[in-house]
Amino acid sequence: ESKKETLGFQTEVKQLLHLMIHSLYSNKEIFLRELISNASDAADKMRFAAVKDDGLYEGDSELQIRLDFDKEANTITLADNGIGMSREDVVQNLGTIARSGTAEFLKQLSGDEKKDSKLIGQFGVGFYSAFIVADKVDVFTRRAGTPVEEGVHWQSAGDGEFTIEQVTREKRGTEIVIHLKPEATEFADGFRLRNLVKKYSDHISFPVIMKSEPTEEGEEPKDETVNDATALWTLPRTEIKDEEYKEFYKHIAHDFEDPLIWSHNKVEGKLDYTSLLYIPARAPFDMYNRDAPRGLKLYVQRVFIMDDAEQFLPLYLRFAKGVVDSNDLSLNVSREILQNDATVDSIRTALTKRVLDMLSKLSKKDADEYQKFWNEFGAVIKEGPAEDFSNREKIAGLLRFASTHTGESAQNVSLDQYIERMKEGQSKIYYITADNFMAAKSSPHLEVFRKKGIEVLILSDRIDEWMMGYLNEYNEKQFQDVARGDLDLGEVETEEDKKHKEEAAEEHKDLLERIKTALTDRVQEVRVTNRLTDSPACLVTGDFDMGAQMKKIMEAAGQ
Ligand code: ADP
Ligand code: MG
Repeated sequence: ESKKETLGFQTEVKQLLHLMIHSLYSNKEIFLRELISNASDAADKMRFAAVKDDGLYEGDSELQIRLDFDKEANTITLADNGIGMSREDVVQNLGTIARSGTAEFLKQLSGDEKKDSKLIGQFGVGFYSAFIVADKVDVFTRRAGTPVEEGVHWQSAGDGEFTIEQVTREKRGTEIVIHLKPEATEFADGFRLRNLVKKYSDHISFPVIMKSEPTEEGEEPKDETVNDATALWTLPRTEIKDEEYKEFYKHIAHDFEDPLIWSHNKVEGKLDYTSLLYIPARAPFDMYNRDAPRGLKLYVQRVFIMDDAEQFLPLYLRFAKGVVDSNDLSLNVSREILQNDATVDSIRTALTKRVLDMLSKLSKKDADEYQKFWNEFGAVIKEGPAEDFSNREKIAGLLRFASTHTGESAQNVSLDQYIERMKEGQSKIYYITADNFMAAKSSPHLEVFRKKGIEVLILSDRIDEWMMGYLNEYNEKQFQDVARGDLDLGEVETEEDKKHKEEAAEEHKDLLERIKTALTDRVQEVRVTNRLTDSPACLVTGDFDMGAQMKKIMEAAGQ
């Protein structure tokens, strides 16, 4: 056997371990869900690899997870015959965190247990959660298809370093031995473990097997399957409890918190697939990172094909998580094939609609819950009108804005609410854009609207002006930027107002000319307006010119 090597954890791993142990000790039991989830993922990957080469099974094709414990030794052992890991895999997966942005994320941690446990939910806990209950962890593993001498033994006390050595291992797959801390010995118990498996891992696709409890008659213990072991999405909706949907979400999304809502659908006919889509309650820390994983878990005829299949949803719905199981695609489907496949396109169109409808339903049924969604993901939804022109009306219905109606910066006014409050004779939806809420709110452009009691939407997110470039109307009402062109207040503007304007223009003709000459080529036109009540003058943008905010963005980009 080769010699043992000691390696240090990546700094981020050390920080995560520290954080986890201190912020999740009241949630100890989730370590089992995480490890079973990994074992199930490894079995999924094994089955997928065997589609191309069933020699990889080495004669052992019944994929399963074994859970054992030893009360005397205070250990729990979780073994799978999944894909296993090579030495390189082990060093990478159990020594580093590969997600970019992790270091910045970990800097935000405060040391406040409650706050940090929420943050860690955005991150996901994974394998390292074993150290919440363990003072030492052994991992024995061998990757499918590699020689028996190339097994690996990894060991760590979770305190900054781990050892790794090559070992002979007959069985492929991974075996994890948890040496329980004195304060976690309660887990070396058959009844407790059975309960946890039922609670957290009932509907993963593979059996979790335990030895039966000893009986009074002194019978030999037998192997028993503890969980239901049917993939959740394959069951009829009526047979699934909310709790089960929630647990399944945590398994597939690597999330720590309950999802906000979900939608489970079986589609038959021209297309034949099942989808189970979830909206998380909280945005992941790397939502704006272009390389962050996104997309659905893809199965073909119940066989796992890949994680992060991004072709099934548009970018602006990247927060949605879930599973799609198709009966039309081939088991040999690759990412390249997914990119231009008519079936995939049809499923994507349907799933996009499904997510939008699910959100729209939530907004009608429970405004408070919807507001939570908007606060987390609204900025991403705002990318929608540009990316998905065909659904822009639907997306517009989901938008929420700050408004002069509330006068507050919270984005909680829908276009439907705005339309309901429109004045007699008002035909347009008015909005103002600015760098920040206060600047918008105190803009002289709002004076006339205030006077007439007309509501104006206040847009001050960076993306807003760009988004409005893709929205012309909603519910047959045009959008109008109040800082643009000749303000047409429709019938809200009285004959008297108009007459007044014309007379003033006539009366101040000379003054207007003089101002225009003084400003020479810096303005296109100088005119009398009704849009002001207190301020003497304001700048307006032409109907077809770039907006003021957009101009600033372009200038900042050096254009
Ligand atoms: P995640 O599951 O979100 O990827 P984890 O921290 O749970 O993160 O696991 C890290 C990685 O370690 C996994 O992505 C996988 O590659 C590897 N791994 C963990 N457990 C196993 C296992 N039982 N069999 C094979 N690989 C595993
Ligand atoms: Mg995991």
